[in-house]
Amino acid sequence: MNPPLLQLLGQTETFGGEIGINLAYVASAVLFILGIRMLGSANSARKGNQLSSLGMLVAVAATLVNQGLDYQWIAIGIGVGALIGLVAAKKVKMTSMPEMVALFNGFGGLASLLVAAYGFLNPDSESGGSEQFQALVIFLAVAIGAITFTGSMVAYLKLAGKISGKATLFPLQKFLNALVLLAIVGFGIILVANLPQIGEIEIDPLQAFAWLVGLTLLLGILGVLPIGGGDMPVVIALLNSFSGLAASAAGFVIQNNVLIVAGCLVGASGLILTVIMCKAMNRTLGNVLFGGFGATGSSASGEVEGEMKPVSVEDAYYVLESAASVVFIPGYGMAVAQAQHAVKELGEILEANGCEVAHAIHPVAGRMPGHMNVLLAEADVPYEQLREMDDVNPTIATVDVAVVIGANDVVNPAALEDEGSPIYGMPIINAHEARNVFCLKRGQGKGFSGLVNRLFYRENVRMLYGDAKETITALVAQFKD
Ligand code: NDP
Repeated sequence: MNPPLLQLLGQTETFGGEIGINLAYVASAVLFILGIRMLGSANSARKGNQLSSLGMLVAVAATLVNQGLDYQWIAIGIGVGALIGLVAAKKVKMTSMPEMVALFNGFGGLASLLVAAYGFLNPDSESGGSEQFQALVIFLAVAIGAITFTGSMVAYLKLAGKISGKATLFPLQKFLNALVLLAIVGFGIILVANLPQIGEIEIDPLQAFAWLVGLTLLLGILGVLPIGGGDMPVVIALLNSFSGLAASAAGFVIQNNVLIVAGCLVGASGLILTVIMCKAMNRTLGNVLFGGFGATGSSASGEVEGEMKPVSVEDAYYVLESAASVVFIPGYGMAVAQAQHAVKELGEILEANGCEVAHAIHPVAGRMPGHMNVLLAEADVPYEQLREMDDVNPTIATVDVAVVIGANDVVNPAALEDEGSPIYGMPIINAHEARNVFCLKRGQGKGFSGLVNRLFYRENVRMLYGDAKETITALVAQFKD
């Protein structure tokens, strides 16, 4: 092998040793990148996932055969982890996936924090680069890892409804957060510059490290508490990105190339998702992080004039039967009801009836990015029928029937009309502009943001009460009769 390539691989030893493992890591990185690329389209997403998993298998296997590892502890770790993962994967309901993803992010952050703590307590272990650089990457892995861990736990509690999903605000909150952040930066400087003392005060590095860990754990909680309501998707995407960045920093701590690369990929894709989510909410990241969305009472959470008008399945059937175009607008309720297969069947029947069918997907519908796409893909809804919000809105006024399936916040016209509403400015799917609208929901339940929805009170809107799957199944039965 030629010297420049050896240099590129960072090693000069024999093939099969360090070079072998780095080649395996390069192969893993290529598989990760190809896999992520294939996730861009619903048709190739499954294969992309398999490729990325293969990349991870190669990386783990190569690391395991590398020298100096304690296989006993690794076997115990794999055993315990696999058991927990298996039970969790079997038990978790599809509707609880978002909480599960929040937990995954959090534990990713915790793992990076633990790796960095190991690096701090064993300074000579795998050290690469200067002492300052080593201290800097330890600081970054601890800080980002700890914020990701506790921040994700708060996000989990909010999504699981174990604490209020709304923004929690208290006096001097921003001042307190700024103070904690300042202290974290201070301890970071102490550790990176290895200061023996400040003025008269002697510095114990271990104590400084403990303070750093404690304060960053606290900042994760304080940082996510004031974010709530419709801004949660942005936080989840950001925490996902943080978990990658923390892993990357941890990769520098233990000089593991594949961890650095994989962490960067997760960090970058999470950041892109964060930007997409901010755009979907028409908000800046700063506004989301420091704005305190959904904490205040507003006109939108109060009474709305008019009444919600119910319609029977039979009457809804007659309207659908004569419709030339129907747009389904799925939301979180479709996930709760697991109505996607029934929706697909109704779509097929409508098409066979000569009707043009589309599914309009709002970027933050459901409880995790891509939630609706995943459900509809699982039901094999044709990819061409999935339409993005910006694609559907310009022509929705010409649609005969919009069928809102357990969606609420993402079709709330308060976002367009009520300047006092916390969601004012957020783009929505303009269901209210369709000629007829059927809203499928069980009762008077509000959406994630807790706001009253003006859509339900419009003249052209009828409420089809009941579980979404049962209602759609009943409509299908009407067509078959
Ligand atoms: P919403 O949470 O606004 O509304 C869901 C509606 O579904 C409720 O009004 C509920 O009404 C109805 N519902 C629940 N179960 C059923 C059922 N079995 N059958 C029929 N209807 C049912 O959902 P949207 O998708 O419109 O909006 C998503 C919200 O979640 C946004 O505010 C978004 O910001 C937030 N969010 C999104 C995340 C993401 O990444 N996508 C992450 C975190 C939060 P009822 O009880 O009366 O049936």
